[in-house]
Amino acid sequence: MTVAWLGIGANLGDARQTLKDAVVCLAQQHTLTVVAKSSLYRTAPIDAGGDDYYNCVVKVETSLDGHALLALCQRVEHHFGRERPFRNAPRTLDIDILLYGNVSIDETDLVVPHPRMTGRAFALVPLVEIDPELVIPGLGPASAFLAAVADQRIEKVKPLCQCMGAAPAPDTPPAGNCR
Ligand code: ADP
Ligand code: MG
Repeated sequence: MTVAWLGIGANLGDARQTLKDAVVCLAQQHTLTVVAKSSLYRTAPIDAGGDDYYNCVVKVETSLDGHALLALCQRVEHHFGRERPFRNAPRTLDIDILLYGNVSIDETDLVVPHPRMTGRAFALVPLVEIDPELVIPGLGPASAFLAAVADQRIEKVKPLCQCMGAAPAPDTPPAGNCR
């Protein structure tokens, strides 16, 4: 099993609902287990026009190799109506492999760590939320890159799922909106 980190984003259609449905879809795959999910964030488009994005990051454990994981991500994107009319076009769903184990991959169709993740608050902030100590292979602590993206607008719209972390204290009310 390999631990991988997936960055998920959307800014077309009911983007917020699509993100939730995509995480459910990923969790239903027998080849991977979703072990953590970040809060849901609303972010400004970077290098693109269009509406604000919704973003989150999930940490998964998978039996798939990097290319098979990419193919799965693209199948899920396709299922949710992803089209690519032009580079950085608005999208119903984008799933990028941010990290795949401790390995670096540099091939035409797959580059890991994702080459633009250290310059994107929408990838770094949710990653560091799940694991403040996370190290990007070959580059160092993810948290070290946060200061450089502090000018990028990112706003938490739904907190971390309370079901995923440590057991809540006995008097904590149920999260209610967790799915
Ligand atoms: P974007 O770069 O905006 O996410 P796409 O989702 O259309 O654009 O991806 C374009 C291409 O990026 C894909 O066809 C895929 O082969 C390639 N790619 C390279 N590295 C990665 C990665 N780490 N995660 C996802 N796609 C990647
Ligand atoms: Mg992509």
